[in-house]
Amino acid sequence: MGRIRVLSDDVANKIAAGEVVERPAAVVKELLENSLDAGADELRIEVSGGGRRLIRVTDDGCGMLRDDAMLAFERHATSKLSSARDLLSISTLGFRGEALPSIASVSRLLLETRSREEQTGTVVEISGGKMLRAEEAALAPGTQVTVQNLFFNVPARKKFLRSDQTELAHIASLVTHYSLAHPERSFFLSSEGRELLNVTPTERLRDRVYQVFGAEMLDELVDLGARERRLEQAPPEPGAERPPDRVYTLSGFVSRPQVQKLNRNSIFLFVNGRLIRDRVLLHAIASAYHNLMPAGCYPFALLFLDCHPEEVDVNVHPSKTEVRFRAQALVHDFVRDALREALVEAKPVSSIPFPAVRPLPQPAAELPYSEFSNRLESQGWPQAGSGAMGTDYSVPSGASGQSCLSPSHNAESGVPETPEALSQLPEFTLRGTRPPEARLDFSAGSISLTGEAEAGQPPLRIPVPETHGAFPHELVPDLSASLAALADLRPLGQIHESFIVAAGRDGLWIIDQHVAHERILFEQILKQRAAGRIEMQRLLMPLIIVLTPAQQVDYDRIAEELAATGFETEPFGNRTVAVKAAPAGIGPGDIERVIFEILEIADRELRRLSVEDLRRGMAASIACRAAIKVNMRLDTGKMEWLLKSLAATECPMTCPHGRPIALRYSLRDILKGFHRI
Ligand code: ADP
Ligand code: MG
Repeated sequence: MGRIRVLSDDVANKIAAGEVVERPAAVVKELLENSLDAGADELRIEVSGGGRRLIRVTDDGCGMLRDDAMLAFERHATSKLSSARDLLSISTLGFRGEALPSIASVSRLLLETRSREEQTGTVVEISGGKMLRAEEAALAPGTQVTVQNLFFNVPARKKFLRSDQTELAHIASLVTHYSLAHPERSFFLSSEGRELLNVTPTERLRDRVYQVFGAEMLDELVDLGARERRLEQAPPEPGAERPPDRVYTLSGFVSRPQVQKLNRNSIFLFVNGRLIRDRVLLHAIASAYHNLMPAGCYPFALLFLDCHPEEVDVNVHPSKTEVRFRAQALVHDFVRDALREALVEAKPVSSIPFPAVRPLPQPAAELPYSEFSNRLESQGWPQAGSGAMGTDYSVPSGASGQSCLSPSHNAESGVPETPEALSQLPEFTLRGTRPPEARLDFSAGSISLTGEAEAGQPPLRIPVPETHGAFPHELVPDLSASLAALADLRPLGQIHESFIVAAGRDGLWIIDQHVAHERILFEQILKQRAAGRIEMQRLLMPLIIVLTPAQQVDYDRIAEELAATGFETEPFGNRTVAVKAAPAGIGPGDIERVIFEILEIADRELRRLSVEDLRRGMAASIACRAAIKVNMRLDTGKMEWLLKSLAATECPMTCPHGRPIALRYSLRDILKGFHRI
């Protein structure tokens, strides 16, 4: 007798359950996707015990016919796919017909459903894959699935689960994601009866972001609008008619570079409405923020990429959270460029922190975990050469960032900036802060000093003079918070001979003179490098530098690049080079240090072979040394020049190492602070 046997359905379902329902959040995901596929407008999710004890998803979707309700628990039973051809153009979230039987095999599941076409509904109850009952019942149209005692019969899986709180956080993050992808529907999530998310339908994504994260968060974001890129289709055979171009569109929000998160939990990606995790897209986002953010920091991003269903394969993994793009390189560059363009156009400004504005984010948006980003976190970034189509998606390195924050630099600027200190940089958190302190109400025109009025006696009132009244509304300009305003600033002076204070039509500005100049020089050097004419200074006496063997190797590799960036060098005997000229602006005492920094960048960068990164790193290093230092007095003319030049840069938001350049205390905030609005 042969040894090969076909597995029973029961075993097959349990195996599938291992892949499809890893944890309670995965059950919620499958049930939510079914409800969305069923066209539901209202989705209600109740959980308890982190989803282990109970998960109940209720929708007002199309419901199931009586026969279908039974069939739904058969393996590979789906209403969404009828032929292999359909696989190429899936527009529903589910299609594998695995979720319900898998979940039912590892829990006690109750399905209550009624299609609008039938007068009565159906109840099906299954426990550990065994049908307990299936009967008719009086139900409202729609579907409710109740999953209890998840993994009760799979003790091994149960052991893998984390605390209830962690599992709940995964669920909350997931439901939050989906609520963002479908602003036109309502979502409700509660745990042990406590409401975690409750959002009503809105027309625009912007309003949903506001509902979920609150006003403060919305202020931190740049709206991408709808951006497009076309993919020209080659004709199937010579002479044949060319098929229509495929259009990719990208919309959503990204945070301004000053918002720096320490993990990828705030990156939400959707491809054709499906929540996914994808390294190509994550890499594209990181590249867009390269030189705008310190290495190891991440933005908030909520991105929706839409394309023809045939352009993306969603059938890569049973959980359907991985995708494969047909044109990966195009998608990568499109997303990177679109984000970059949006940031350059908006030039968003950092405001001086001000008490929180209501509404605060919903509790679900505050929970810390995201299943999808977490999993990626543990996988790390893709390494060079691992890209499926041979493109190098290596991590944009922050090598230059570190070099500028080395102790030597600190001594000079007097700012302690060890790597630890860097991680403590003021994070412009997206967490809700405490509501503003109660203030006296000036709106009535007078204030009560006694608080409680004594019976019968009118409280003492001091009239507020006209000059203290509200600021006429028409006079409060509603200027967008863009750094384009830098061009019109009037410098007033310096604080600590390091920070320029300037008045603008829209408020008070403080500009860090060193990083501002760094940004100006950085962009200038890159432009000159691209045009092949770097401004150089000839040294009176050649500077002799002694290299270590490793540095010698790096030097040999990048000698040409060094020359093109303005360093005229010549080998001068054994592991020694003579520097005859250097880029303008670097003090003679700094030349050796810059060259060593560049060799260090080269050592790291060249292994990944990104010439672009090397060039940016070199430019950042030179800019850092050549820029005006802190603790340096500037006259008005110099300050004016600095502000004008900064205004003319592409990215005046942050220095090449990701630190903010300018802070604004907006007129609106000033008026609020003085209780004039
Ligand atoms: P898939 O979603 O991959 O088709 P599932 O096992 O998740 O597989 O669901 C099986 C089928 O059950 C679906 O194809 C759909 O016809 C039906 N179904 C599941 N959930 C719902 C729901 N909430 N409302 C209506 N029909 C549903
Ligand atoms: Mg499904």
